Formats: sequence, structure tokens, C-alpha cells
Amino acid sequence: TVFLGIESSCDDTAAAIVTGDRRILSSVVSGQTDLHADFGGVVPEIAARAHAERLDLCVEQALDQAGLRLSDLNGVAVTAGPGLIGGVMSGVMCAKGIAAGAGLPLIGVNHLAGHALTPRLTDGIDYPYLMLLVSGGHCQFLRVDGPQDFTRLGGTIDDAPGEAFDKIAKLLALPQPGGPSVEAEAALGREGRFDLPRPLLDRPGCDMSFSGLKTAALRLRDQLIAEQGGLRQSDRQDLCHAFQTAVAEVLAEKSRRALALSPAPVLAVAGGVAANQTIRAALEHVAAAAGAAFLAPPLRLCTDNGAMIAWAGIERFRAGQQDGMDLIARPRWPLDNRAAPMLGSGK
Ligand code: ATP
Ligand code: FE
Repeated sequence: TVFLGIESSCDDTAAAIVTGDRRILSSVVSGQTDLHADFGGVVPEIAARAHAERLDLCVEQALDQAGLRLSDLNGVAVTAGPGLIGGVMSGVMCAKGIAAGAGLPLIGVNHLAGHALTPRLTDGIDYPYLMLLVSGGHCQFLRVDGPQDFTRLGGTIDDAPGEAFDKIAKLLALPQPGGPSVEAEAALGREGRFDLPRPLLDRPGCDMSFSGLKTAALRLRDQLIAEQGGLRQSDRQDLCHAFQTAVAEVLAEKSRRALALSPAPVLAVAGGVAANQTIRAALEHVAAAAGAAFLAPPLRLCTDNGAMIAWAGIERFRAGQQDGMDLIARPRWPLDNRAAPMLGSGK
């Protein structure tokens, strides 16, 4: 089985070719960070236009790099949501065109399912496992029991951690994306100078909150500026350190609870925030204490990419499912099939 996977739900245009025996023949990702840099966030209209312009080229490159033609494929998988509607629609249109033109099965994939199934692509692990998805837009614990069997154990009630990292970077005038710059500053920061809150730790369950943490950091910054007339290099480093420590602690404690609530042989992470070494180490520790293996796919497969969509498509296809030309783009699409039906127009 050879699948083309197309992803365009946020600010990366991506296409990849993946085989049923877990080989990634190519994976092309075209980012848009530069296009949105002046706006302090992703501008949906700009993103949609860029996706529309780049999709064909990404697909062409993915095929070229894999040394394949459309006629060599067994199916086309595409992110059908959740995400920015313009981008998702561009991807779905592109996939429909290819599927219709080449006479291939079309499979709509939930973007979060793509992330959640990545450890099966990278490491071939069996069901069930526990997944912590931590990115710029998401933060949730998922118990994964099958390609369409996801149970949400809890998640953020406000910001995602990546978003909080980005905002902290903005507050401190550090470059975007904020995650890597905050991590770099934090590495030089002093332990224990500032103490930021650990929101929701006092409440049972796996829900999390990160917006209060951001507000507390903002207050600290303003206080420092008022007292000293500005921020020193060391202030930035110490603040980043305190912030990162708080996020790592919250994620670790909630992961401990998720594993206690729903024991699984593997704790896997996905999403850009999983790149953070301090957070990784904290989660690894929690997993070990619970007797679970810890798994973090390579970063390029943790962040948005086409390979995870192709793979999720293969898993759905194997389960005997595909979509028709009536496949729609869904800006909102909960993954937990107990919360809402998983498939839009599945057959
Ligand atoms: P989503 O995929 O959920 O729609 P997204 O595209 O923003 O959102 P990703 O591409 O998975 O998510 O991750 C990007 C986020 O990860 C950014 O917010 C970035 O700041 C954060 N990030 C990247 N590297 C690090 C790091 N080393 N430490 C902390 N956060 C990081
Ligand atoms: Fe994503």
C-alpha cells in the first residue's frame, strides 16, 4: 500500500508518500513562518492563499523524491479538519482533484488522529497507548485503542503550552517561534529565582491551564521593568527558566495522573512542544515511574507533516473505510468518538 498524504490545516503546507510497511518515501514541508512574522500570529487568509499556491508543488516534489507517479499510488489521504477552514479546504480540494483524476480512493483524516497515530508509523507500537499531544494549538491526553478509537482523558481548558511559549517569547522580545528561544534562554537561567504558579495542579483529573501562567509571567516582567527601568539579560533567562519549569511540572504531574487513570504500556508525545528537552526529561521520568516506555518520535514527525496524514489514511483504509467526493472540510472536529461521531462522510 502506498499513500499520498496532504496537510494544510495550519501554517505548514505538506505532502508525503508513505507505505503500508511504515516507510516514509518522501516528506515535503513548506512552512510559512516568514509570511506571518509581521502579524504576531497566523493570518488565516494569508495561510489559505499560500496553501493554495504551494500544494501542487509540494505534491509534485513528494512524488519526485519518492520516484513515483500518481499511478503508483493506492490512495490519497488529506487533513479534513480540525484547523483553519481556508487551508483545510485547499487541501481537501487538491486531494479530491488528484483522487478523481487518478481514480484513487480518497481518505479524510482528522489532523489530531494524524499526530496521535504517529508512534505507530515511527515505532510500530501496538494499541493501546497513551498519547500526550502538546503543540501550538493543542494540549490533550488521548488513550489510543485503535485507528479510530480515541478517548480524551483531559486537556487544556485555555491556551496550549506552545502558544504560551510563543507569548512568553513575545513578552520578552525573543524571536518566534517562542519554544526554542525560551528553551535556549531557560538553559542559562537560575533555578528558584522566580516562582510561577502551577495552575490546576490542586484539582483532580487531567485538565490543564496555561493562560494564568502567562499572565503571572507578564506581571513579573512589568514589575521588573518598573523596578529597574528595563529587563536585564539575566531577568529574561531566569523568567524563561521559571516558566519552563512550571510547564514541565504541570505536564509531568498530569501525565502521572493520566497513566494512573488509564494504565498503558507506552506514553508517547507528539507536537512541537515535545521538542523541549526539559519537558521530555520530566515525562520520561513519569513514564519510567509508572512502568511505561516513553516514546517521542523525531521532531520533524512530531510537528505538522504529510507523513502522519498518509499513515493515518493507510490505517483507515485498512479498516475498510474511505470517503467520497462529498468529503467536507471541518474546522472543528473532536477526535474522541464518544464525544461526537468521528467520520463526516465515511462509507
Ligand atoms: P497544531 O499542530 O496543534 O495546529 P502548531 O502547528 O502550532 O499547532 P506544532 O508545529 O506541532 O504546532 O508546534 C509548534 C509549537 O511548538 C510552537 O508553539 C512552538 O513554540 C512550540 N515549540 C517548538 N519547539 C519548542 C521547544 N523546544 N520548547 C517548547 N516549545 C516548543
Ligand atoms: Fe498539528
